[in-house]
Amino acid sequence: MPETQEYDLIIIGSGPAGLAAALYAARDRYNTLVLEKNALPGGQILFTERIENYPGHERISGPDLVETMRRQAETFGAKLKMQAGATAIRRLDDGRLEVEVNAGESLHRAKAIILTPGSDYRRLGVPGEEEMRQAGKVSFCATCDGAFYRGKHILTVGGGNTAVEDTIYLATRFAGKVTMVHRRTEFRAQKVLVEELNQAAKDKGMDIKVPYVLEAIVPAADAQQIDHVVLRNLDTDKTEQLRVDGVFLFVGMVPNTGWLRGVVEMNEHGYIACDCTTLKTSAPGIFVAGDCRQQAAMQLATACGDGVVASMMFKEYIRNPKTWRKTMPEEGAVEGW
Ligand SMILES: Cc1cc2nc3c(=O)[nH]c(=O)nc-3n(C[C@H](O)[C@H](O)[C@H](O)COP(=O)(O)OP(=O)(O)OC[C@H]3O[C@@H](n4cnc5c(N)ncnc54)[C@H](O)[C@@H]3O)c2cc1C
Repeated sequence: MPETQEYDLIIIGSGPAGLAAALYAARDRYNTLVLEKNALPGGQILFTERIENYPGHERISGPDLVETMRRQAETFGAKLKMQAGATAIRRLDDGRLEVEVNAGESLHRAKAIILTPGSDYRRLGVPGEEEMRQAGKVSFCATCDGAFYRGKHILTVGGGNTAVEDTIYLATRFAGKVTMVHRRTEFRAQKVLVEELNQAAKDKGMDIKVPYVLEAIVPAADAQQIDHVVLRNLDTDKTEQLRVDGVFLFVGMVPNTGWLRGVVEMNEHGYIACDCTTLKTSAPGIFVAGDCRQQAAMQLATACGDGVVASMMFKEYIRNPKTWRKTMPEEGAVEGW
């Protein structure tokens, strides 16, 4: 039998939401454990060299910011356990919660849990995508990275609301030229957005190619820039090459919540349902924070803010667990504490 360890709070995920929650709980002297499935803490933000929209830092790299956040949480006593993926949560008879790590390798118990497993951008899996992502030439977030492409040629991929809105944003704010590809003839985005897109295409000389798919991203000889992309026309099956400076993939997000089915309620896309004021989930004692929750803004600063709120609400709960009321909302409903 694995040894069982006891904590006040277990936080699952060491991204910005998890580290911010850990800082607040540990600083108030709660015995706090952060479980992280990867070898390094930090979550998604670790993979960017340039952050320019985190208040208080004009510019900072993801690894530098994460290192400070990690140190700050650990200085106040939070324990971080790496390569420790949470695989199950059980409620014990006395109301405490038990978290199983790596399918039974260890067990950890706590009075409460904050879920911060984040979400991942959906990838296409095409040749060159991973290599150029590491070089910072494949992006998933227009707000985060649009400013790096002033006057440049961008390829955008996708057909939903985010794809259309963010393509308009890039075309009208930053890019010298935008080419957009979508695999279907019709966009899934709302009609009003598609009308705006068509207007932006006229005003800004954008190319909208349907039904097309991105088939490959070919790196330049230095492996730091994109040489060209390969596009396939699904009507004619012909391929063509296009020189672009960057690629933005807007093909959806995948929350890391599959293992939580049956533990907390989720919406149809797997985002954890919560009371958006208190970040309570449907399960007493379990809070949620960051990108994995319904209606998250999917930003570094908001993930940190969520972590802080969840930690404050955890403290309220610990002081008086009876204050928990099951007030599971319709998606988007905001309920009182
Ligand atoms: C390349 C890139 C650039 C970005 N740039 C910016 C930017 O400039 N500005 C900005 O505001 N935002 C940016 N973002 C978005 C920002 O990084 C996210 O909004 C933020 O990281 C979300 O924080 P989070 O803590 O909710 O989740 P994540 O950062 O996703 O962290 C979740 C953590 O939980 C871990 N985990 C998942 N499942 C488990 C499990 N079962 N057990 C244990 N651990 C688990 C994951 O490994 C991960 O470490 C960027 C994102 C990317 C990918």
